[in-house]
Amino acid sequence: MSLHTDHNDFGNPLGILGNTRLLQRLTKDVSESRLSHAYILDGKPGSGRHTVARHVAAAIACYHREGRQIPAAQDGQFGFFDDDPIPVPETHLPIPCGACEGCRKVLEGISPDVHVIGREGKATLGVDAIRRVRESLYISPVELDTKIYVIEDAETMTPQAQNALLLSLEEPPPYVLFLLLCNGTEHLLETILSRAPVLKTQPMSDGEIRSYLQSNRRTLPASDMEAVLIGADGSIGQALTLSDSKSLKDILRQRGLIDAFIKGCAHKKKNTLTEAVSQFGSKREEVLRLLSLLSLAVRDLLLVKKAETVRLKYYTQIEAAAELADTFTTRSLLSLYTAVESAKDDITQNRNIRLTLTHMCLSAGVL
Ligand SMILES: [Zn+2]
Repeated sequence: MSLHTDHNDFGNPLGILGNTRLLQRLTKDVSESRLSHAYILDGKPGSGRHTVARHVAAAIACYHREGRQIPAAQDGQFGFFDDDPIPVPETHLPIPCGACEGCRKVLEGISPDVHVIGREGKATLGVDAIRRVRESLYISPVELDTKIYVIEDAETMTPQAQNALLLSLEEPPPYVLFLLLCNGTEHLLETILSRAPVLKTQPMSDGEIRSYLQSNRRTLPASDMEAVLIGADGSIGQALTLSDSKSLKDILRQRGLIDAFIKGCAHKKKNTLTEAVSQFGSKREEVLRLLSLLSLAVRDLLLVKKAETVRLKYYTQIEAAAELADTFTTRSLLSLYTAVESAKDDITQNRNIRLTLTHMCLSAGVL
């Protein structure tokens, strides 16, 4: 995969990283006017769902798309379709070009024909938001030949919202394109799933993120780089955030505490263990983050012990993890894992942090 601007048949001049095949497929569908009326973009946060949606919208809006009509210039301004639109001169630039007025408006989020529907801080995306979509559906697009609705967190749509949307998916006006972004499709109704192909966005590989960081002068010592890659979990945005010096210091400190805790358990050194726990602090979010890391570490040790070949989520060296895992019995790791998970629940439910952590250590049998 190229990390830089890549002008091929269905190029990627926006320099988007990851999801190359998916982008190529969708760009080809745009070029050949073969888009469905709706797609579900399914993937974890950070896996590029928004980026893919933006790319599709830009490809539709790009002045270099074959058959795209651009507005006539009027008094030095663009007056959309007041005069006969001018067909785009034949070019062989890949779409989206990323530079024309059409692309620019989409990429800057100011295209009047791209509508983003979000849940605005609420837990679910309710029927009211979808009703507003339905009300605006039959108003023709302003500048494009397509009216694009990007629905974020689609998996949080209430059943009523989904049923309301279904009416639009069943018989949409010909110019409408729905892009439903979701993290898992299990909460979507079968009827929705049957109307829109599910396209999976994939997180980037560690190798891809590493090269990207290096080519952007984020050069880090090997062990710090591993810590960033683990924390980023395939998200380039997250990797960039974590690799700045302050965040990096934070994650290295957190990992230091988790390592100390696990070593304390492994070598039955209660002082090391209680010292580490005392530094978990008293901020609920921070403690939850630490417990999540601890849970990943224990999970890794369990998997390594069973010699399963899975991608480790906490440890960077499989041999070191295996050696550490040997100092535990499977049973002790399982009870530690259960204790950590239940502590996470308790902290989420506002239980006392100190008591919960002590209880966690006691019930895992490590204190
Ligand atoms: Zn363009």
